[in-house]
Amino acid sequence: MTDCPVYIAGEWRVLRGDGTPVFNPSTGEVIAECPAGDAVLVDEAAQAAAAAFPAWRDTPPVERARVFFRYRQLLEENFDRLCRTVSREHGKTHAEARGSLFRGLENVEYACGIPSLLMGDTLENIARGVDCETMLQPLGVCAGITPFNFPAMVPLWMFPVALACGNTFVLKPSEKVPLSAVMIVELLEQAGLPKGVLNLVHGGRDVVDAILTHPVVKAVSFVGSTPIARYIYETGTKHGKRVQANGGAKNYIVVMPDADIVKTVDALSTAAFGCAGERCMAGSTAITVGAAADRLLPALVDAARTIKVGRTDLTTSQPDMGPVITAQHRERVLSLVASSESEGAKILCDGRSARVADAPNGFFLGATIVDEVQQNMTLAREEVFGPVLNVMRTDDLGRAIEQANQSAYGNGAAIFTNSGKAAREFKHRVNAGMIGINVGVPATMAMFPFTGWGESFFGDLHIQGREGVLFYTQQKVVSTRWFGEGVGDVWKK
Ligand code: NAD
Repeated sequence: MTDCPVYIAGEWRVLRGDGTPVFNPSTGEVIAECPAGDAVLVDEAAQAAAAAFPAWRDTPPVERARVFFRYRQLLEENFDRLCRTVSREHGKTHAEARGSLFRGLENVEYACGIPSLLMGDTLENIARGVDCETMLQPLGVCAGITPFNFPAMVPLWMFPVALACGNTFVLKPSEKVPLSAVMIVELLEQAGLPKGVLNLVHGGRDVVDAILTHPVVKAVSFVGSTPIARYIYETGTKHGKRVQANGGAKNYIVVMPDADIVKTVDALSTAAFGCAGERCMAGSTAITVGAAADRLLPALVDAARTIKVGRTDLTTSQPDMGPVITAQHRERVLSLVASSESEGAKILCDGRSARVADAPNGFFLGATIVDEVQQNMTLAREEVFGPVLNVMRTDDLGRAIEQANQSAYGNGAAIFTNSGKAAREFKHRVNAGMIGINVGVPATMAMFPFTGWGESFFGDLHIQGREGVLFYTQQKVVSTRWFGEGVGDVWKK
């Protein structure tokens, strides 16, 4: 069993008892126990972060950035080891783990630019002899609560920029995948981060509630499912905290009859089945327009049938798709697919009985395509978070956009077409924050905000990009006037 320590005030500590099992989803084996922290632990972490804040706030931004330049180097040097940990505790293939780590690394690179990002504005003579300037100052202690599906990337969305801005931080990763978080915190310690600036706690609801109500915590970043995101936003703001809370999603991909079918099949397979469908930007519903269905579906089904499912915890060979996170989650996905079948949908590609010979207890599911899904079916409304693609058929683009806009979520939406007019109409009218035009997973990179709409986001300032910097800072506007003799007179004396 791998240890899963907490890190508070620069000290690593292993807590025993009452933890939750961390699985290797490829084999079903328990590989670690994630300790159940409590309010006392959170208080220790928050107090350590509060004590470290004054010195870190006053550390020049160029010096803070230098820690992140070293961190970037260490992440790169430990890239393969980190990818293996992500694959082992989450089930991503090595290629998927690498891709997600690159997205995380880009956030560290963005944080390296903090001296420029923190620069304010000035205007001379807002009135005669009066000048005005803005300054971006850190908030104090910030906290991050993260989901299971990107064990390293999502924490890296948060603490690098928050710390580079001069805040201190308490991180609470998902209890399903805490080992990658331990590794990325260890590497930041090696990069020379002062003690107490970043603290790591583990646990579930008790720990989250203690963070949301702790008086020294000024801001909370959250990524997870919509019901919890809503709860985090409501509870955190009620306790006077700034909150950004990313929730779940249901992302639509419209396929027009003029789409390049070969490229669309490729992109749709990746969007729907990549990371076993466990991503908030998964393209989980294809809406075909007119003749697109007949052109697309046979090729898509053929492609889905070739997706090889297997273990991701081995260094020798890698499958195309790994397992889902737990046995319980696998059961939930199976029951959602079964419910659609009983409501009249048709299974075009059935991955429900996928088995892996050398890992009979792994949490595997094969790629599944469900056709003729109707908006009133549970499968159409709920986030599935598994390798399941719904297909809805429509006759025109207007109706396709209407279907997509019926979703309560609004993370991503994409269109595949060769028509500029159709693409323009789509990007103008569809209700989602991240739009792909012939791009299946339009997840934004570090320099752009991750702009979920609707029930995919609660808050005002999104994670990443300039909005991320604004979330972790407060603005001060300084107006300056000097009294006394004129400049000329001073020089005379
Ligand atoms: P989750 O909501 O179950 O858990 C997220 C975090 O909240 C974890 O740290 C967990 O410990 C904590 N938590 C869980 N239940 C809680 C409760 N009752 N009270 C307080 N805290 C609680 O999410 P998950 O299953 O780990 O992750 C998958 C979800 O995350 C999906 O819905 C996915 O769409 C979403 N997600 C969203 C984005 C985005 O940017 N919008 C990105 C990644 C994942």
